[in-house]
Amino acid sequence: MPMLETLRQIVQEVNSASDLKEALGVIVSRVRDAMGTEVCSVYLREPGSDRFVFSATEGLNQDQVGFASLVAGEGLVGTVAEREEPLNLENAENHPNFRFFPDLGEEHFNAFLGVPIIHQRDVLGVLVVQQAEHRRFDEGEEAFLVTMSAQLAAVIAHARVTGAVDADATTAGAPTKIAGVPGAPGIAIGTAVVVSPSADLYAVPRKLVEDRRGELQAFRYALGRVREDIRGVADNLGGELSPEDHALFDVYLGILDDSSIGREVVGLIKEGHWAQGALSKVMIEHIRHFERMEHSYLKERAVDVKDLGTRVLAYLQASDKQEQVYPDQTVLVGEELTASSLGEIPREKLAGLISVRGSGNSHVAILARAMGVPTVMGAVDLPYTRLQGRNLVIDGYNGTVHLNPPPEVLSRFVAVLDSDRELSRDLELLRDQPCVTEDGHRMPLWVNTGLMADITRSLEQGAEGVGLYRTEVPFLLRERFPSEEEQRQIYRNQLEAFAPRPVTMRTLDIGGDKALPYFPIEEDNPFLGWRGIRVTLDHPEIFLSQVRAMLKANAGLGNLRIMLPMISSVSELDEALELIHRSHREILQEGVDTPLPSIGVMVEVPSAVYLARALARRVDFLSVGSNDLTQYLLAVDRNNARVADLYHSMHPAVLGALQQVADAARAEGKKVGICGELAGDPEGAVLLLAMGYDMLSMNATSLPKVKKALRNVSLAEARELLQEVLQYDDPGAIHARLERFLADHGMEKFIHNPVA
Ligand code: PEP
Ligand code: MG
Repeated sequence: MPMLETLRQIVQEVNSASDLKEALGVIVSRVRDAMGTEVCSVYLREPGSDRFVFSATEGLNQDQVGFASLVAGEGLVGTVAEREEPLNLENAENHPNFRFFPDLGEEHFNAFLGVPIIHQRDVLGVLVVQQAEHRRFDEGEEAFLVTMSAQLAAVIAHARVTGAVDADATTAGAPTKIAGVPGAPGIAIGTAVVVSPSADLYAVPRKLVEDRRGELQAFRYALGRVREDIRGVADNLGGELSPEDHALFDVYLGILDDSSIGREVVGLIKEGHWAQGALSKVMIEHIRHFERMEHSYLKERAVDVKDLGTRVLAYLQASDKQEQVYPDQTVLVGEELTASSLGEIPREKLAGLISVRGSGNSHVAILARAMGVPTVMGAVDLPYTRLQGRNLVIDGYNGTVHLNPPPEVLSRFVAVLDSDRELSRDLELLRDQPCVTEDGHRMPLWVNTGLMADITRSLEQGAEGVGLYRTEVPFLLRERFPSEEEQRQIYRNQLEAFAPRPVTMRTLDIGGDKALPYFPIEEDNPFLGWRGIRVTLDHPEIFLSQVRAMLKANAGLGNLRIMLPMISSVSELDEALELIHRSHREILQEGVDTPLPSIGVMVEVPSAVYLARALARRVDFLSVGSNDLTQYLLAVDRNNARVADLYHSMHPAVLGALQQVADAARAEGKKVGICGELAGDPEGAVLLLAMGYDMLSMNATSLPKVKKALRNVSLAEARELLQEVLQYDDPGAIHARLERFLADHGMEKFIHNPVA
């Protein structure tokens, strides 16, 4: 069998194992067979230590599994772990680090090949094959084992966390910490509620229920409906079906039979599982079973089984009338949380968020920060469907989720929570104070908005204007494009609430990680694709109705500013300006008296940095979107947790670009602001002040902190600091220097990580 196929099959089999033990068993037996060796073993690192435990074997002494162990650097296995590279030996005994374990049964084996199992830079374990023959494994064999191990690493990491979570559910619970990426700062201690997309067998939360009879009835009803549907399709096709096709429909109906899959589901329901969970569990097992088959015809049946299961699930979900009950202190958990999933839960019940996908600058994380909801993103190894109803702690500062934290850890979290509350009470006192530096420089602090709730919050925090109103948010929360009149009303609310303070409305910025449910954009590279102004220039009808709605909403108020996202060339700007001017002329002709607002451009694409002067000349203001600018300058997807460590908003290249934009605007006599998340970071704000930014716009939650920070420094010392850090070439050093600066100015509490 070709190597790629062998690899694929082994990974798939390991993937479908029900727990870590079974997964390891599959690995050792299948790898041994595939490589034709006599021994294959896995050593796994004990969480939180550098001890590697003999965890599974085919060919050595099974009795030693779970007992024999070595620390990093000890013996051959420890050497592989420490060096993080393969060790390929003709005769293991001759290696200086060789250590003999009397009970393992290794004495007959000479050839040794060990490779590290590494997941996200973390050595999880070592995979070893051994043989009696004196020989070096050849290059192909070594490459095979390395490839195998790289593929298995993620599967093992996932199985390990799942095992810990399941064990915690049934036993008193060992402390388990799951790593993700910081999404929104803060600590939350609460109860998990799983949000799952509908009709997805893999996203059904596991849950036990009292009313078994009700669940059975629901299941039988759903089965009956699907049976009818299938019969209906077969009847409709009638004469067009070949006898083989007819046979296939019979097979379908047979699968739903009480004697087959149906019986297994009923069995689980009788044990207390809710119908959706029982169905999902049974169906997934059967799908995996088919996927593992070697015969391609049978393998394809996996698709049919999945289709069938999904249909039954859809009926179950449709008849599940129960309103979701949100406990106090709900932590919403989902594969990919979206702005609309936040809309369903009452704010006072929401304590925290965990998303398996996405990263710190995904839009849902930005919303969470605006709402002040502690959030962990990119918890890729989290078996989220198993968390329904579990108590957990989320640490939004470090991006970690904790199950059963030991009492001393829990009390540390409670202490941070208390001190956060105290800090926000202190900061409230600053509400009516201006943002003025010690040497009298005034820095206007504006807010970013999108949700209605932001308005009150922003005004409470003393916002002096809106630097970014994300108009896509009301678009995201609907089932179709809002009409011009609907938009006018939404915009009017914003403008009225803040008047006479300025409100900067950004034209629709969809694409990237912001897809409208009713206008899906499927692309391989969405962040480099059809986004922002590119979409709206291709759909002038959408752009025009939005601009008309804004202009009409501004009648009699005059505090509107319009801002264009994702501009990457002058011609795009000229086109958009032409459309805005046209709308304005038309509206005047219609008899509505409304002024032409200030118009600005977002600088969030590297080309716009180089074009900043040409762009500034054509408009009234520039506003830097540092979230996207950072992503595009560093080529780091803001939505991808795997590269989150590389997303440095204070990277020297980003700081250089920010300075260049500020200088370009000044040279053209235009105002320049910033509305990316950097503006809401006290460290970033100090540097932006020094660079000459005229305004900082941030989420309402960050505003008091930034005000406090800027009131504690002088412009002169901020400038000195900027000159110093612009000499640094390492983002870590810049960050460390800024932390020191804040600490020296009595702001230890603003340093990012209070828990560590
Ligand atoms: C940005 O990119 O910095 C920005 C403010 O826009 P958004 O985060 O909505 O893409
Ligand atoms: Mg942007």
